[in-house]
Amino acid sequence: MTLLDYLASHVLAFVLVAGLLGLVVGSFLNVVIHRLPKMLEHDWLRQAREMLHPDEPQPAQPVYNLVLPHSHCPHCQAEIKPWQNLPLISYALLRGRCGNCRERISPRYPLVELLTALLSMLVAWQYGFGWPAAGILLLTWALVALSLIDADTQLLPDAIVLPMLWLGLIANSFGLFTDIHSALWGAVFGYLSLWSVYWLFKLVTGKEGMGYGDFKLLAMLGAWGGWQVLPLTILLSSLVGAILGIIILKARGDSNSTPLPFGPYLAIAGWIAIIWGDWITGTYLRFAGF
Ligand SMILES: [Zn+2]
Repeated sequence: MTLLDYLASHVLAFVLVAGLLGLVVGSFLNVVIHRLPKMLEHDWLRQAREMLHPDEPQPAQPVYNLVLPHSHCPHCQAEIKPWQNLPLISYALLRGRCGNCRERISPRYPLVELLTALLSMLVAWQYGFGWPAAGILLLTWALVALSLIDADTQLLPDAIVLPMLWLGLIANSFGLFTDIHSALWGAVFGYLSLWSVYWLFKLVTGKEGMGYGDFKLLAMLGAWGGWQVLPLTILLSSLVGAILGIIILKARGDSNSTPLPFGPYLAIAGWIAIIWGDWITGTYLRFAGF
C-alpha cells in the first residue's frame, strides 16, 4: 500500500497531514502577507521613476523578494536561524520573543500558522483525499493571504487574484466543482455585479465604496464555485461585514473613520458559499417550507 492509498482510505491521517502542511504553508503565507505589498510598492516606484525620468539610471535596489533577504528580527536585525523558523514550535520555545534581543514577536505569526492549519484540516475532513481537496486547499491558502493583505494595505494583489481566477476556470474545465459554463459566467457576473454596485454608489453618493480588487476577487470566487455561489456570497459578506464591522468599530472607537476593506468579508463569505453553499441553501429552503 502506498502512502497515497493510505491517505485515501484513512480520513483522519489525511486530516493530520493537511494540518501539518497547513502549518508550513501558514509560515510561508506570513512571508507573502508581509513582503508582497512591499515588493509591489518597490515595483510601482521603479516604474514611476522610469516614466518621469527615462534618461536617468535607476538607483540600485537591494534584493527583496519572497526568498531573499532571509528573515530577520525587525528590532535587532539578527537573522532568524532555521530552527527558529519552525511554525508554532519556535514561537512557543522562544516564548514569543526574539532569540537574540528578547523583543516581543507579534502573536499574529503563530496565529496565521494556526488558522491556516485549522482551515486546512477542515477542508481535508470535508472533501477527503483527492483533487477537489487539493484545489480547495490552494483556494483557502490564497484567501488567507488576500484577506490579511487587504486588511493591512487595502490591496488585493493581481499577482494572487488573477492566477487563482484562471486556476478556478481550469479546474472546472475538468468539472472539479461545477461545469465550465457555470464557472465562466461566475467569473463574468462576479466582476460585473460589484462593478455595477460601485458605479451606482459613486453616481449617487460621489464616493468610492470599494475597489477594483473586490470585483476581481468576486470574479475569482465565481470561477471556482460557479455563478450559483454569487448570491449567497454577496449576502453572507454583507452579514459578516456588518457583524465584524460593528465589532471592529466598537473596539477602536468611532472616531476612526478609515474605510474597512471589503475583501476579507468577500473571502470568508465566498469560502463558506463554495464549500457549504448547497447545504446552506438546501437547509434554508427546507425550513422556509419549499
Ligand atoms: Zn531581535
